[in-house]
Amino acid sequence: MIIPFIDLRKQYDSIKEEINPAIQNVIDNSAFVLGKSVSDFETAFAAAHNVKHCVAVSSGTDGNHLASWALGITSGDEVIIPADTFIATAWGATLCGATPVFADCHKDSYNIDPEKIEEKITSKTKAVVAVHLYGQPADIEAIRKITDKHNLRLIEDAAQAHIAEYNENKIGGLSDICSFSFYPGKNLGAFGEGGAVTTNSDELALKARMIRDHGSRQKYFHEMYGHNYRMEGIQGAVLGVKLKHLIFWTECRRSVAKKYCEQLKDINEIKLPAEMPYAKHVYHLFVIQTDRRDELQKYLNENGIATGLHYPVPLHLQKCFEHLGYKKGDFPVTEGLAANCLSLPMFPELSDEQIGFICDRIKIFYKT
Ligand SMILES: *Cc1c(COP(=O)(O)O)cnc(C)c1O
Repeated sequence: MIIPFIDLRKQYDSIKEEINPAIQNVIDNSAFVLGKSVSDFETAFAAAHNVKHCVAVSSGTDGNHLASWALGITSGDEVIIPADTFIATAWGATLCGATPVFADCHKDSYNIDPEKIEEKITSKTKAVVAVHLYGQPADIEAIRKITDKHNLRLIEDAAQAHIAEYNENKIGGLSDICSFSFYPGKNLGAFGEGGAVTTNSDELALKARMIRDHGSRQKYFHEMYGHNYRMEGIQGAVLGVKLKHLIFWTECRRSVAKKYCEQLKDINEIKLPAEMPYAKHVYHLFVIQTDRRDELQKYLNENGIATGLHYPVPLHLQKCFEHLGYKKGDFPVTEGLAANCLSLPMFPELSDEQIGFICDRIKIFYKT
């Protein structure tokens, strides 16, 4: 059996009848950039997260940049970011000229450890970014206590966590501003690049809208600096259709995770993901830890099972941040995860047969 890491074709086949006419409609109306498909999607996506505003943009990375930009983060500022995340989280602050300041993650949630934030705060600190990594919300209330106390802004990076919940509240409106990605492999994926920022602030939403479109509200009148971070009409149409299935697909992901946990729970050499008491995890990724990671990955690969590493090199050890002076040993939890993490196939359409095959191979590998 060959099991891919993610199967986008299977998902397309299941919604083809809805998606194709939606795309055709954009073409028929020549509504290629922004337009009704995008504004309809913004309204629906904001409602799905119980947040006042959604501004659809051209990618999650652009959303990260736009969120920091709208908050006024600039050169000389510092922004505290978890060391265990995808590089794009750090571009938000970096592209605004600010310095990313890394912090270690928590050993069970894999999200930024609230107890490691305060020691990183200086007179230059402007904001903290809470990444909801792998689909599990960060401990936003504990983080918020710190940002409130020090008068800092709080940013969510929810690229991996569409409709995840923190204490039964949807993420996306639990900070000053939040960014999402609709990269094809994300829980809600476009047919190309896409992203969004959400906020409950009228002022930040207006700024985000203006920055997205060359710093203007009215064509050719530029009130502030901006960029072209507009979403394409076809992506708005695709995302509008897919959003209607997201609750179902999320439940499928949770059910896949549950089956993995049940079948792998007796293998002592494996640390399974933990759903924190405050979290509704949406399992963008199913990440296990094992000391024999490289061996297990090779074995699964030989048996037709694709896996991934999220992430093999923590941000503080990336070459592009060498000048910041971090060294190996600075963040033991993050570094341990980088050495031992293995992401198993995870997508809503993963069948019981496929899950059983993967778990059986893992059991054979550990001879249990
Ligand atoms: C995917 C991702 C991004 C970037 O999104 P793109 O749409 O690929 O630009 C940002 N942050 C995190 C945590 C991500 O996983």
